[in-house]
Amino acid sequence: MFKALVLEKAPSFQASIRELSESDLPMGNVLLDVAYSSLNYKDGLAITNRAPVVRAWPMVAGIDGAGTVFKSSHPNWQTGDKVILNGFGAGELHWGCLAERMSLNGDWLIKQPGSFSARQAMAIGTAGYTASLCIEALEHQGVTPELGDILVTGASGGVGSVAVVLLKARGFRVVASTGRQDEIGFLRKLGADDVIHRSELVGAGKSLQKERWAGAVDVAGGHTLANICAQTRYGGSVTACGLAQSADLITSVMPFILRGVTLIGIDSVMAPRERRESAWRRLERDLDRSALEVLTTEIGLDETIDAAASLVENRRSGRTVVRIGDKG
Ligand code: NDP
Repeated sequence: MFKALVLEKAPSFQASIRELSESDLPMGNVLLDVAYSSLNYKDGLAITNRAPVVRAWPMVAGIDGAGTVFKSSHPNWQTGDKVILNGFGAGELHWGCLAERMSLNGDWLIKQPGSFSARQAMAIGTAGYTASLCIEALEHQGVTPELGDILVTGASGGVGSVAVVLLKARGFRVVASTGRQDEIGFLRKLGADDVIHRSELVGAGKSLQKERWAGAVDVAGGHTLANICAQTRYGGSVTACGLAQSADLITSVMPFILRGVTLIGIDSVMAPRERRESAWRRLERDLDRSALEVLTTEIGLDETIDAAASLVENRRSGRTVVRIGDKG
């Protein structure tokens, strides 16, 4: 028997920690002993049922996992291998990683990056790996520190806080946007050169505004993303990965046709293996381990349901790592 965070739809939505047996697990070619998982915005939405994240019921929650292969018939993996999973529908379409044991398709796994422990890999998790994908995309577009400031929105959250640390390590001048005055010290500690209040960005604005940013990592969408595009300097680039403000985007073509601004969509869930591995290599190279510790809070599986509620209510900061099977 093993413990898992199970989401059920009928007769009414319920999230609970339950004991399951191996025979309950879906078919898969890898059985994994999960050591750590993490709490992402999407996990928060799924566990609180605030948005239709889960597409098959009942579901074991958890889009992220790090652990050790227990049994495998997949050619890439053998018993004892240390691996991680980010996305690929875990916790949405297939049973996820907030469980002591899971069964999955080995194609979704990558090797645990050698210089990270399972705990560190999950402290980074999908949010941190997405931050890395965003910065890879900005640099690919030619954004360099000499070109000017980089804006990070939702900076006190998971994607934002890791993005601040990674950008700083690359020599960028980082401007962090937050709605939380009490997080200014935290953001400065992570490396933010300047902190602005998100109220500057959340309202409807003009289609072209004063040029401020060489690039941006945006997790908010909505008016925030429209304003960022309108404030991006000639030739600059903006990555869009989130919808913390809104899934809508009402903007004009002006920043794109008059300033040559590039808007880059970032998806972590189905990103191909090469892009995942490259983003994780960047994390290994650039992520200051003591900054990672500063932005990480550890909880146990039993605390995850309450933590999910506080995450979607914007009462948490940084990253939340969930201890599952690691007894140390
Ligand atoms: P968190 O909850 O950790 O952080 C989100 C942050 O957004 C909050 O901490 C807050 O930061 C800010 N925020 C909250 N409400 C608003 C609002 N109304 N307007 C503007 N900003 C707001 O989530 P994550 O960092 O894990 O994820 C951020 C977003 O990115 C989510 O929408 C998530 O779904 C998406 N995402 C997408 C991925 C992809 O593959 N495309 C992968 C991972 C995440 P502050 O208080 O500092 O302003």
